[in-house]
Amino acid sequence: MSAVIAKQIRIEGIVQGVGFRPFVYRMASERELFGTVLNDSQGVLIDIEGEEETVSAFILAIKTELPPLASISRMQITDIPAVGKTGFAIAESRLGSSHVAQIAPDSYVCSDCLREMFDPANRRYRYPFINCTNCGPRYSIVTDIPYDRPLTTMADFPMCPACKEEYEDPASRRFHAQPNACAECGPQLSFADAAGQQLAVADPLEEAIKRLKAGEVAAIKGLGGYHLAVDATNDTAVKRLRQRKHRDEKPFALMSFDLSKIRRFATVSELEERLLTSVERPIVLLRRRDDHPLSMNVAPKNKFFATMLPYTPLHYLLLEQFEALVMTSGNQSDEPIAFENSDAQQRLEGIADCYLQHNRRIHIRTDDSIARLLDGEPVLYRRSRGYVPRGVKLPSEQLPVLAVGAELKNTICLSRGDQAYLSHHIGDLKNQQVVDSMKQAVEHFEGLLEVQPELIAHDLHPDYLSTHVAGELSNGRPLVAVQHHHAHLASCLADNGRTNKAIGVIFDGIGYGSDGHIWGGEFLVGDLHEFQRVGQFAYRPMPGGDAATKEPWRMAVSYLHAAYGGQLPKLPFLQDIDEAALKLLLQMIEKRLNSPLISSVGRLFDAVAALAGVRQHVSYEGQAALELEMLIESDDSDEIAYPLDLEKKDGLLQVDAVPMVKQLVLDLENGIPAGKISARFHNGLAWLILEVCEQLSEAFGPLPVALSGGVFQNRYLTERAAKLLREAGFELLLHRQVPPNDGGLALGQAAIAGAKAARG
Ligand code: ZN
Ligand code: ZN
Ligand code: FE
Repeated sequence: MSAVIAKQIRIEGIVQGVGFRPFVYRMASERELFGTVLNDSQGVLIDIEGEEETVSAFILAIKTELPPLASISRMQITDIPAVGKTGFAIAESRLGSSHVAQIAPDSYVCSDCLREMFDPANRRYRYPFINCTNCGPRYSIVTDIPYDRPLTTMADFPMCPACKEEYEDPASRRFHAQPNACAECGPQLSFADAAGQQLAVADPLEEAIKRLKAGEVAAIKGLGGYHLAVDATNDTAVKRLRQRKHRDEKPFALMSFDLSKIRRFATVSELEERLLTSVERPIVLLRRRDDHPLSMNVAPKNKFFATMLPYTPLHYLLLEQFEALVMTSGNQSDEPIAFENSDAQQRLEGIADCYLQHNRRIHIRTDDSIARLLDGEPVLYRRSRGYVPRGVKLPSEQLPVLAVGAELKNTICLSRGDQAYLSHHIGDLKNQQVVDSMKQAVEHFEGLLEVQPELIAHDLHPDYLSTHVAGELSNGRPLVAVQHHHAHLASCLADNGRTNKAIGVIFDGIGYGSDGHIWGGEFLVGDLHEFQRVGQFAYRPMPGGDAATKEPWRMAVSYLHAAYGGQLPKLPFLQDIDEAALKLLLQMIEKRLNSPLISSVGRLFDAVAALAGVRQHVSYEGQAALELEMLIESDDSDEIAYPLDLEKKDGLLQVDAVPMVKQLVLDLENGIPAGKISARFHNGLAWLILEVCEQLSEAFGPLPVALSGGVFQNRYLTERAAKLLREAGFELLLHRQVPPNDGGLALGQAAIAGAKAARG
């Protein structure tokens, strides 16, 4: 028999409200260890006593067998004297004045709860709000800390005796499950007509299913907000939703009951299956099958279906009856997703034919997250529901910083200690509604994390609404302006837990440069403290400024003008352009009227998409680039790459895309298909990245390469570049925890401000 010892174990992370104490209780009781476990302001505190070997096995089990929603950010073990304890108990919480404990993200409904919901003998049979300690709403219902029922929107529902008994029983699956409820005592569904009038129907769920089957647009209240739903096999219904939402082409998200149903319209690899079924339940971009039964209007001109599995019990009950439902966020374009019942009815008026609602309030709206596999691992396009408010570990402790993010795809980031907390997706800061919703997010995060930032980081752009908000919020606190592409680099470094210098290949649409021009095709060398711009795409005029982002043909003409002067080659796409408009545009370019200089690779993608005849106008950001990538079929990759010129000017590597444009025009004239043209363009960029990185490593020594910016959502380009760089011996840093696009920018801003403060 080995000696009896005692240890105190302090655990920080997401350990409250996720079944951690019952889990510890079970681990200790199974091993006949003695002591206590309790929640306190820092997390969970365990006193454990027993034979040395068994205590070690217990500690290992705590680390490796965590409940599904829990995650440990720090574990500290100290020796304490053994006092001959007997029994193991969950002791009273000790909640002090400060709360370091973290709130868990919203979770999908677990398989135990699902089984109960579909079991006619269970008291929660077909109850759409079933949940347990391991699953259910969290972040979206928390009004304040500590995470306890009275401080959630479940405070509206006093528990019935049966629920209360489960809640208080350490042996129950629902011990301290704050949203615990049943049909007796919990939230209920209701049904309203297009005018928002409550209708007394026997079964709101059945009524909604009936309406959806009849082709109606239903607004459905979910976990973090409203969805607009239609039957995805009903072409008329899908078209109707497009018309009413003024959304011409942007793909709609789909939800389907299970993997076997999804496999009828999309292919699912093993890794994609893992991503679809993960606790976060993101929307996953899956390759469309040719013989699918869904409406072509779900995702026109797209080879992918953005698909998710149900994540609430209500979704399961609904989806049982359908092949798939379109489930798009319940908003008018550009507005935040609706999440309050009355607000939803106002804002979705004219879009929704009926409403399936419930009376559990949503405190914080969270959109669905979007992910895709890239280079063999998931990458996030949007990090929101399921991931927020989980922290990203920073390379070191830093002063608390608030970073207000970018203008588009805005998220904010608050740092505390060595953790950075990136908010839910807030949206494009184009109107007051979104700005207000951003300010609310700041306030809510500061409350949840109980932290008052000492610094406020914002984008260098003087006119961004986020920059104005930073000024408003500052209240005498120092402001740190961060250059957009430096923030992308830092975001990628922090995402990978790095602080050391790296080459940043930062390709995106638009970002304000240190020289006052618009950047977006940048090669940087830098770390969290500082950066040097060592290379760039040659500046080109962007005729019409912002208008060019909506009309890719403008950039195509700008590049043609750079290649051929005023005598443009007769290309098919020019036939679609009004002659007068073309003439005017050429004048703007020549006289540099309303034509800011840009080095953006995003806009180069636009130009190439227009040249290749893919599209001259876009209805959503990134559309031209996405469709250009989609054109590439597996047999298009002939390994031909368009040439780009690389030249050193004033100590800066300058990339000139004009030779590429000329080659592309030759290909067009020779009738090379658009898919091949697209592949050759992508290949050219990948080779260029390698060449620049090789030249830079000669000058700066061996450095890792970070790929960041919205362009690196492009799978073909990223995987090509990654392969070439790895083969040449470069260490590669890709985004994994936060998106490469502007949705991950606030993390970089926060890391830079923190690092700068540390140096004084
Ligand atoms: Zn559950
Ligand atoms: Zn109940
Ligand atoms: Fe950007």
